[in-house]
Amino acid sequence: MNGPGTRVRLATVWLGGCSGCHMSFLDLDELLFDLVDRVQVVYSPLADVKDYPEGVDVALVEGAVANEENLDVARTVRARSSTIVSFGDCAVAGNVTAMRNPLGDPRDILRSVYVDAVDRDPGVPDRVVPALLPAVMPLHQVVPVEHFLPGCPPPPERIHRVLVALLDGDPLPDDRDIRFG
Ligand code: SF4
Repeated sequence: MNGPGTRVRLATVWLGGCSGCHMSFLDLDELLFDLVDRVQVVYSPLADVKDYPEGVDVALVEGAVANEENLDVARTVRARSSTIVSFGDCAVAGNVTAMRNPLGDPRDILRSVYVDAVDRDPGVPDRVVPALLPAVMPLHQVVPVEHFLPGCPPPPERIHRVLVALLDGDPLPDDRDIRFG
């Protein structure tokens, strides 16, 4: 993917998910040693980096797009990354995060709870917690992605195989690259 001796700039991103996909990434255990000389982690919830950098080669994005902050982050990641991997079933298809969708627009529910049902100081909280979107969306409905890595969570060995294939510039076989919609 990069020239000899150049380490690939890898980011991992956590949107609307449970962090289980990141835990599976950590479960690579000794397989991480295979990657350490080839990869530089430039952004991750596992590292103390506040701003998503420019010039990311590969981004693993966990979680669906559930709120306005997720939306902003997804667009920033797209603008600054060459390759995005939709990482885990929540990113790929909504999965657990999208279970609220059948209940309808959450703003109606919040209004009924915080405005209609109270006698004192009615008002939907609008600070600190990002506003929810009307519906949870898989990542590819918000930004184009290059690859899909399904699983809840994807097993560590599979994450490793996909990363090594990307680093080697190999095509991802169908069973590791399932496209939706
Ligand atoms: Fe958690 Fe599963 Fe969603 Fe990954 S795909 S964030 S493990 S619920």
